[in-house]
Amino acid sequence: MKSRLRSLLSSLQRPPVRDPEYQANLEQAINHLRRSHRVLIITGAGISADSGLPTYRGIGGLYEDKMTGDKVPIEVALSGEMMRLEPQLTWKYIHQIESACRGAHFNEAHRVIAAMQDRFESVCVLTQNIDGFHRDAGSRELIEIHGNIHELHCVQCDYDTWVTDYSAIEIPPRCPKCGALVRPRVVLFGEMLPEAALESLYQQFQRGIDLVLSIGTTSVFPYIAGPVHQARRAGIPTIEINPGDSEVSAIVDHRLKQRAVIAMQNIWEQL
Ligand SMILES: [Zn+2]
Repeated sequence: MKSRLRSLLSSLQRPPVRDPEYQANLEQAINHLRRSHRVLIITGAGISADSGLPTYRGIGGLYEDKMTGDKVPIEVALSGEMMRLEPQLTWKYIHQIESACRGAHFNEAHRVIAAMQDRFESVCVLTQNIDGFHRDAGSRELIEIHGNIHELHCVQCDYDTWVTDYSAIEIPPRCPKCGALVRPRVVLFGEMLPEAALESLYQQFQRGIDLVLSIGTTSVFPYIAGPVHQARRAGIPTIEINPGDSEVSAIVDHRLKQRAVIAMQNIWEQL
């Protein structure tokens, strides 16, 4: 009995059998990282999914059927034009997205990325996510290409503010200085990307990048897939962490088909 119990216990303690292809790619990814000094990490909804956030398409994919209860497609409700014409409607859906994120926090993958700053000369994070988790985790070189849902600003004057959540906000909020509309500093459908963010990304490539790591993004946006293509053309190693297929899966050097939290923990343990 005892020996059977012992063998059962030892089998439970044994590490799970891992996919040999995953292991090989993990090793290669770690080898590339060990040789790198300046790393660009690109993140999307997949990394925040491990914090319990819904993986939405762009900013609005919370809605599976693409139509809102107000009979307009979500892309229209969450557009820059609607924010100008009917801010009440746009705010309603931004508020819903914010509610879905409320109470969620950054996870182990965000933490590992921030911790990597002590091991590398530069760890720049280009994120599509508006949840602010990379900032919360301590990433310093951060390009929030779609903005941050916690940053609000007046459309007329220079008033801006930071809110933890929207629970105390009257929708749509008005500027305490001039009375005009206050909105989140996020990129709505049909709006331009922030020039400063694009400039920062350009500067990163100018200064030199040794490795590009894409995590949890389907890379449907050209400015998200672009740096991976650019790295590929320049002979810079590219790695993707994503359980599913993305627009860049076919061109990256190494694919880790795994959730962000698990893959980043595996990398961190062995780096
Ligand atoms: Zn104002």
